[in-house]
Amino acid sequence: MSFNEQLLALQQQYREKLPDILSQIRGLADSLVAEQQSTADLEALAEHLHKIAGSAGTFGLSALSTQAALLDQRLEAVLAAEPGSDWYQGECRLLKTELYDLERFTAPDQLPGARPVLSGQLATGAGLAAEVWLLEDDELLGSSLLAHLEAFNFKARLFTSLAQMTEAFAQQQPEVLVLDVMLGTEGRSVDFLQHTGLLKDARSRVIFISAKDDFRARLQAASLGAEGFFIKPLDVPKLVTRVEQVLTRLHAPVERVLIVDDDKLLARYYQELLRGAGMHAEILQEPERIIEVLEQKYPDIVLMDLQMPGISGQNLAAVVRQYEQWVGLPIVYLSAEHDPHQQLKALNQGADDFLTKPVDDAHLITAVKSRVVRSRQLLELMTKDSLTGLLKHATIKDSINREWAIAKRKGDTFCVSMLDIDHFKQVNDRFGHGTGDEVIASVATLLRQRLRATDILGRYGGEEFAVLMGSCDVAAAKAVLEDFRKRFQDLQFTSEDTSFSVTISIGLAEYRPDMDVDAETLLVNADKALYEAKKAGRNRLAVYGA
Ligand code: GH3
Ligand code: MG
Ligand code: MG
Repeated sequence: MSFNEQLLALQQQYREKLPDILSQIRGLADSLVAEQQSTADLEALAEHLHKIAGSAGTFGLSALSTQAALLDQRLEAVLAAEPGSDWYQGECRLLKTELYDLERFTAPDQLPGARPVLSGQLATGAGLAAEVWLLEDDELLGSSLLAHLEAFNFKARLFTSLAQMTEAFAQQQPEVLVLDVMLGTEGRSVDFLQHTGLLKDARSRVIFISAKDDFRARLQAASLGAEGFFIKPLDVPKLVTRVEQVLTRLHAPVERVLIVDDDKLLARYYQELLRGAGMHAEILQEPERIIEVLEQKYPDIVLMDLQMPGISGQNLAAVVRQYEQWVGLPIVYLSAEHDPHQQLKALNQGADDFLTKPVDDAHLITAVKSRVVRSRQLLELMTKDSLTGLLKHATIKDSINREWAIAKRKGDTFCVSMLDIDHFKQVNDRFGHGTGDEVIASVATLLRQRLRATDILGRYGGEEFAVLMGSCDVAAAKAVLEDFRKRFQDLQFTSEDTSFSVTISIGLAEYRPDMDVDAETLLVNADKALYEAKKAGRNRLAVYGA
C-alpha cells in the first residue's frame, strides 16, 4: 500500500467510526437538559469534542474539527459556570441542539487543487451511500421501491408501520424519509404525520407519496418543508432522481472563502465566524500573492478589504479579473466606506457586492453563502447538461484530453467508454419525448450512483454517454460497467400505467502507456466497440480490440 493509499484507508476508517461517535455524543448531550445533570456524562462529552476537534481535520473533515472546537469551548464555559441561571439553561438547550446537529459538518474537504468543474462529481457517487427510509404499508410496493433504491446504491430501509419507524427514528435519523401519507389503519393524512415527531426534526429531508392527488395535502406537505410529493402509481426512477437531488444539496461541498485583509485581528474574526458557520476560511495578508493563493486554494468567494497599505481593493480585484480563469470568481468588498458614490465606483471595478464594516455577523454569513450558491449554479449551467447534470460534450472532451495527458506523463492506465441506449427511438415513439427524457435522466442517476466518485461522466449526445475512468484497467472498468448495464436493464419505468424496461449498449477502450494512441483515437476506439456491441445484438459490452 502506498503512503497515499494508507492515508486514504485511515480516513475511511475514521469516517466509518464517526456515526457511532456522533450517536454517543447525542446520547451524552441529553444530559445537558436532564433534571439531574450527570457530571460524568458532561465530562465524557467534553472529551469526545476535544478529540474530534483535534483529529477530524487530519482525516479530511476540517469543518467538523472547527465546529467541535467551538462547542468544546462553550461546553467548558458551561461546566465552569454556576447552574441555574437563565443563561445557563438557555446555553444548555442550545448546546444540545447544536450537538445533535454535528452531523451537518461531516462533508469531506475538497481535494487540494481539485478542479472546480469536477467538484459536483466529488460530492456524489459511490462514496455517498446515504440512508433513505421508506414508510409504506403496501409491502409489495415497498419492497420494489426498496430494491430500486438499493440498485441506485442508497442504504434503504423499509418500514410498514409508523410505530416501527418512529421507534427506529429515536435511535438514528436518516438523511431522507420517504413517507406514504395514506397509511391503511394508522394514519390518514399529512396532519397525522405532523404529530409523530418524525417531521419535527429539521435534519431529515422528507418526500411524500400519496394514493391521491389533493391540493390541501400538497399545501400541508409544502408547509412542512417536504421536498417532493409523488402520486401513485409511482414513477420510481423519477422518485429516485428526486432523492438524489435532495442528497446532492444536503452534501454540497463546504464553502471555501478567502479573506484578504491587512487587519489581522479582524481577518481572524471573520475567519472564526465563517468557520463557525461550517465554511472553510483562509486569510491572505500579502495581497501580491493573490493569484498564487487562488490557484492553490480554489476559493468559492473572496472577501476583500478596500483599503490596504500600498494597494487598493479595486486594483487588486482588477488584477484578478485579468485572468480568464478568475473572471467569474465572486469578489465581495469589505469596507468602512459609507459614501454610496464611492461604493458604486468600487463595484464598477470588478466586485460583485459591497458590505459595510462593521459587518453584521449574520449578514456576512448569509451574503457569503448565497453568493457561493449562485456562483456554483452558474458554473453548473456552464459545464453541466441540465437534463442529466452530467458534463456537457465540450467539457467531457476537455476532460478526456486532460486525463490522457496525465496518464501519459504518469505512465498510468485509464479507460474511456461510450454508452448508447438501445432502440431509443421506440421509447420516444411509444411513450413520448417526456418519458424518453426521464429514461435519459435515469441513466445519468444510475451512472452517478454506481461508478466511483472520481470517474468523470458526460452526456456526449442525445442518448449517448461518455465515461472516463482514471487509473483503471480494462478488467476493472468492464466489471463496473457490466454491473451498471445489468442494473439498468432491471429498472422498471412507467408511463400511463404501462411498465417497461430499457437496455443499453457499451463500448470500452483502454489506454495503456505502451500504446501509441492519442485522446481523439481513444474515443473513436470506444465508439467502434460500441458499434460492435450493437451489431452483436445490443444490451452488451464490447471491448475495443478484444
Ligand atoms: P440503437 O439501438 O441503434 O441505438 O437504436 P436507437 O433507436 O436508439 O437509435 P439512435 O441511437 O440512432 O437514436 C437516437 C434517438 O434518440 C433519436 C432521437 O430522436 C432520440 N433523442 C436524441 N436526443 C434525445 C433527447 O434529448 N430526448 C429524447 N426524448 N430523445 C432524444
Ligand atoms: Mg444514439
Ligand atoms: Mg440508441
